[in-house]
Amino acid sequence: MIKRLNRDDYDRWASQIRNTGGCRQPIHLRGKVEHYDRATGALLHRYTTRTEPDGILRVPCKTRRASRCPACAETYRADTYQLIRAGLIGGKGVPETVTAHPTLFVTLTAPSFGAVHARREHGGKVQPCHARREAETCPHGRVMSCMERHGKDDPRLGEPLCPDCYDYTGSVLFNALAPLLWKRFADSLRRALAKAGGLALKELPCHLRLSFAKVAEYQRRGVVHFHAVIRLDGPDGPTTPPPDWATTDTLTLAVGHAARAVSATAPAHDDKPYLVLRWGAQLDIRPITLNGDLTEQAVAGYIAKYATKAAECVGTLDRRIHSTDTLDAFNLRDHARRLISTCLRLGALPELAELRLTDWAHMLGFRGHFSTRSRRYSTTLGELRAAREQHARDNDITTGRLPLFDEDTVLVISEWEYAGKGHSLGDQLLVAALTGMSLTGPTDLEAAPHG
Ligand SMILES: [Zn+2]
Ligand SMILES: [Zn+2]
Ligand SMILES: [Zn+2]
Repeated sequence: MIKRLNRDDYDRWASQIRNTGGCRQPIHLRGKVEHYDRATGALLHRYTTRTEPDGILRVPCKTRRASRCPACAETYRADTYQLIRAGLIGGKGVPETVTAHPTLFVTLTAPSFGAVHARREHGGKVQPCHARREAETCPHGRVMSCMERHGKDDPRLGEPLCPDCYDYTGSVLFNALAPLLWKRFADSLRRALAKAGGLALKELPCHLRLSFAKVAEYQRRGVVHFHAVIRLDGPDGPTTPPPDWATTDTLTLAVGHAARAVSATAPAHDDKPYLVLRWGAQLDIRPITLNGDLTEQAVAGYIAKYATKAAECVGTLDRRIHSTDTLDAFNLRDHARRLISTCLRLGALPELAELRLTDWAHMLGFRGHFSTRSRRYSTTLGELRAAREQHARDNDITTGRLPLFDEDTVLVISEWEYAGKGHSLGDQLLVAALTGMSLTGPTDLEAAPHG
């Protein structure tokens, strides 16, 4: 740390760090960018990392997982927020008239796989977890009741009253089939809407389009829920109004119908019959309005928050488990370990091979995308990023760090190589001081492959 502070290039290093926004595991690049005049071949401008501190340029890792890099995940969260919000009130290329389109915030839940410890509140008071006057005793000799009033951070929340009774297989298979269940839900919703409008399914796109943005949330018990913004548009997306018959009530009825109608089947395995999985009975459908109970800020904030979280929030792991890993080394709680072992065990069965449960054991079987949007929901993360990069480039040009060239007459040649990632321990402390990002959690310093 002292060595870094005393170096002549400390200011440049600090400026690189500020440009990464406090990324915990920046990527180190070595290379150069050269601008040539296409007509004369003359070199107009050259940037090389040779003169940078340590001979490298540090760029943000751009992960969306808050458990790996809080700074980059925050950028992802903020972008997701903007994108979801634009789909609700307009902006970023979406017209403001979208506000008048019927829009719902829908939560699709998982069914129960056994009683779990829960924190219940009633009138501001925490209630006993599972108060049962005549509680049964399970075949494993456990009384199926719990009189405790669990605290918010009680690690037992979401864990089964009896792990031996809990349906780990069902839980893992539900996660594995949740993306298929979602797809069937969306298809069924389109069919229900076509029916409501007196149309054949194939005629629907000429009248109405379904736009959605959804995010998966891991519950403490280790199953995914989906939260989705579902909006009705006209045939050309948010720029056209939906037909008059397509009201909020029509959409509400269609969502309710579709959620109850669909199922997905896991193949028979282990001498057990096939398993039919459906959404849980808890279905929440709420209209999003500018002045009602559920505002567009609340919805955008909610979806953006879950877009940066994954299974690590239920005490599992945030990276892939390799076949050489032993689970004992990870210091997992029993519930997480059983969920992961169930994935590994079922993953080895040929009947379930296509669910790829071994590859996705760290995600407790779920292999879908966390945060997805239909094509015409609003702007895209790519467009938001491109706009920010253009802004940074314009800024470099106005402050004289980059020359202003006409792109048609200039040839740009760039050469980059990966040279490692992360910070040394001393650098970590300085980064925290410079950017105010916390140091908690693991950090990696990966050495450059060549010196
Ligand atoms: Zn980062
Ligand atoms: Zn309990
Ligand atoms: Zn039991």
